[in-house]
Amino acid sequence: MSQLDVLYEEIRACRKCQLALGRTNAVPGEGPENASMLFIGEGPGFHEDRQGRPFVGLAGQYLEELLGQIGLKRADVYIANVIKCRPPGNRDPEPEEVEACRPYLDRQIELIRPRVVVTLGRFSMARYFPGASISRIHGQPKRAGGVIYFPMFHPAAALHQPKWRSIVEEDFAKLPGLLAKVEEIDEEKPEPPQAEQLSLF
Ligand code: URA
Repeated sequence: MSQLDVLYEEIRACRKCQLALGRTNAVPGEGPENASMLFIGEGPGFHEDRQGRPFVGLAGQYLEELLGQIGLKRADVYIANVIKCRPPGNRDPEPEEVEACRPYLDRQIELIRPRVVVTLGRFSMARYFPGASISRIHGQPKRAGGVIYFPMFHPAAALHQPKWRSIVEEDFAKLPGLLAKVEEIDEEKPEPPQAEQLSLF
């Protein structure tokens, strides 16, 4: 059993917050363990709760369509959520629910080590861009070390507001360039050794 499978089992048995009481299934996330690109949504909705899989409802269909537009398949990327259990009536997650779930997403990211992290919506954006406004920063990548963080509107927002579709699609179209960018980062020359380091030899 891989470390990721162990984590999935823990999430499926989790009772750390009140959302455990109302769920049908926890939704740990899915995708290849070595995925370069990781998407973080908000939390499971009705269909995700039923199936125990992320993004399998309408927003998921649209996400797959968006991936197709840039030549990727769902199976090429890792898909996770900020919270792993469906809030009643699909309400926004409470801060204590996000906090209770945080270590699961942290461990997931540590195990997968993605190079491009795409945040879908404001709850996952808040993890990497605290205090930011999504309308201001969507589509603007930020690099930290060897990882690029890319904030986007949630695909469900574009389903509710057709005028946002083109914004979501323009932002999505930047993703292949970001994947190419991480390869450039890998080729960057390491800093030349400092004088005091040299004197050690
Ligand atoms: N919306 C999300 O944020 N996550 C899902 O898994 C499905 C819809």
